[in-house]
Amino acid sequence: MERRDFLRAGVAAAAAAAVPGSRAAADLFPGPLGPADGSFRQADGPIRLNSNENPLGIAPSARMAILEAVGDANRYPGAYARALQERLAAYHRVDRESVVLGNGSTEALQMVVQAVARPGTRLVIPHPTFEHVERYAEPFRLELVKVPLLGDYAHDLERMRDATRRSSRTVLVYICNPNNPTGSLTRSADVDAWIGDAPENVLFLVDEAYWHYTDAPSYTSALRWVQDRTNVVVVRTFSKIYGMAGLRLGYAVAHPETARKVAAYASGSNANVLALAAGDASLEDRPYLRESRRVNDDGKRILEDGLDELGIECIPSHTNFVMYRVEDTNEFRDRMREHDILVGRPFPPMLAYNRTSIGTPDQMHRVVEALHSLRRAGHV
Ligand code: PMP
Repeated sequence: MERRDFLRAGVAAAAAAAVPGSRAAADLFPGPLGPADGSFRQADGPIRLNSNENPLGIAPSARMAILEAVGDANRYPGAYARALQERLAAYHRVDRESVVLGNGSTEALQMVVQAVARPGTRLVIPHPTFEHVERYAEPFRLELVKVPLLGDYAHDLERMRDATRRSSRTVLVYICNPNNPTGSLTRSADVDAWIGDAPENVLFLVDEAYWHYTDAPSYTSALRWVQDRTNVVVVRTFSKIYGMAGLRLGYAVAHPETARKVAAYASGSNANVLALAAGDASLEDRPYLRESRRVNDDGKRILEDGLDELGIECIPSHTNFVMYRVEDTNEFRDRMREHDILVGRPFPPMLAYNRTSIGTPDQMHRVVEALHSLRRAGHV
């Protein structure tokens, strides 16, 4: 028996023994790689389309890497962290010192906020957007300027720029591209034009959590800036296309000088051995990434076609979720729950819209059926 087979058999047997009455642990690791469709976790309970997770589960390569890394779970993760840092640096063609790992990318966002925020300084963010930057800024009693999105749901960079210029105490600008919860893009050329002539004392925090889900020609990564500029931090996550939301792994990339300041706010040994091993294994697992994109594209098309057929307005999405008009998002969420489908929470001020994550094509057919049923009952 090879070491990895031996490990897998051992883990399966131990799990089965530890959880009496649970599904046979062998089900969790069937075949050499485990079920690539994540079906075992979806067999019971509602369809979960509320947190923008990858419905396929983690990559087969990541499952294998986790089994192998279990043997090192009694060790602190330093060696694994350094290995992944180096791997990410090579992948992004930056220095190793430019990569800061986080326990999820939200920890990276938190570190950046903590590194620059002081009472009385100003933070400029789009609105609505991913809430965590605002949340982490709250204890610092910053002046928060929220700039509404444009009619096409791109960031209003002109107004954000004005808000930034108006106070020399502006220390941080958050750009979420593509944006959550709207799934919309802001043209990279416009972001670059701003960064290109912004003073270096304003830090641009560019969140690219959904980077893998779009090939739009107007979109390029802000990573191009980090070698030469000290005022750009790009944040990426393993929670979305890599399917590792429950493992918690993300990272920031910045100029080494900035990365050092950001890393000062990391919690000790923040990323764990299993997550680091899984991240390393799946970073460039092209078959898995291709399949994840294909499933997402197919599922998104099913939902968008279904919405179109019902005449429900939706925002063109560059992510693994779609936002569409429902009149009352709370009521809609309750009604979808009755159909055993969990959809997104309210995102003020867009309370007439719902954010629904993309699941497997089968799950998206279920969503469309539920929408038809709600239409028959006069609810959407
Ligand atoms: N950024 C954005 C824009 C997100 O939508 C999310 C997750 N919903 C994250 C960051 C956080 O991801 P995590 O902490 O799981 O890496």
